[in-house]
Amino acid sequence: MSERVYNFSAGPSMLPVDIMEDVAKNLLNYNGCGQSVMEMSHRSKEFEKILNDAEANLREIMNIPDNYKVLFLQGGGTLQFSMVPLNLAVGSGKADYIITGTWSKKAAAEAKKFADVKIAASSEESVFSFIPKVGKSDFREDADFVHITFNNTIYGTHYSYIPDTGDIPLVVDMSSCILSEGIDISKFGLIYAGAQKNIGPSGITMVIVREDLIGKMDSTSMPIYLDYKIHADNNSLYNTPNCFGIYVAGEVFKKIKNMGGIAEMNRINVSKATKLYDYIDASTLYRCPVENKEDRSLMNVVFVTGDADLDKKFVAEAKREGMINLNGHRSIGGMRASIYNAMPEEGVEALIEFMKRFEEANL
Ligand SMILES: *Cc1c(COP(=O)(O)O)cnc(C)c1O
Repeated sequence: MSERVYNFSAGPSMLPVDIMEDVAKNLLNYNGCGQSVMEMSHRSKEFEKILNDAEANLREIMNIPDNYKVLFLQGGGTLQFSMVPLNLAVGSGKADYIITGTWSKKAAAEAKKFADVKIAASSEESVFSFIPKVGKSDFREDADFVHITFNNTIYGTHYSYIPDTGDIPLVVDMSSCILSEGIDISKFGLIYAGAQKNIGPSGITMVIVREDLIGKMDSTSMPIYLDYKIHADNNSLYNTPNCFGIYVAGEVFKKIKNMGGIAEMNRINVSKATKLYDYIDASTLYRCPVENKEDRSLMNVVFVTGDADLDKKFVAEAKREGMINLNGHRSIGGMRASIYNAMPEEGVEALIEFMKRFEEANL
């Protein structure tokens, strides 16, 4: 087998090697039970333990209050764009969205099919290079919820604050930053995240929701799978979940717990991102389009040379050196280094060394 590369993809992204080795060791015969997790009944004692341990470890590392349900669903972040308004826009039917990038635009566009959507703020005019400052007065008092995208995977921005929405439940898409930093769950009504960036393999979406917010959707006229209450009442086992994905995610939660929790994870993430941003800011060749430093993402570091051809050359040469997927999103070009939890610090150091050599050769 050739050597492993450093994968800077925005998702699916790297997973911890020790977890994959352990999963490989247990692939045919999980913990001596004579079968693979891929073959196991989702109603078996073995899988019940995998699911319950995963949830317990997640609750511990994220400090999830008892009045919040944890759901392991399918359909990605994308299905949450529909499930959120279907389940929560059931009072006034109004939903206020803050637009900070492609994903929040998609979320709002989907919500428009089911709710009266107002764009409360947007940074689109400046190509989403900053996070708007919003507060209570920006939202309709009778809105059923406010929706934000905490980390903007494509534009490399991140909220440095939690908007005050008063009594209106705040819904947050944390697909690309969950488990990377400590958050106060009680500030949110609902948190969702696709797994393939910081949780595990693609195919599970995690939803953490305050229990009083669910069970209000008209489930007689809606697809049953889309009702959070059904999944909450059945401990994510209403139908067959992505058992293997939940198993690997559970291993990730356990690893974070054993390494000292999310605070330690965050310390490493800050160290990785600071090294890279400091180098970019000090360099002559590269520039980060997110000028407001407090809005910069720890997970997706976006940078450009200012010359599209040189950007392409950068991405191609990096690939030859075993650093792949450094191209920016196809909608904006440039470069993007996604340095999620599982990207080792050495990967970031190797990238910076390459950037230095490339700068010297191309200035
Ligand atoms: C990747 C991503 C999504 C889309 O997730 P899918 O699982 O592919 O549907 C949604 N929101 C954010 C912030 C993302 O980074």
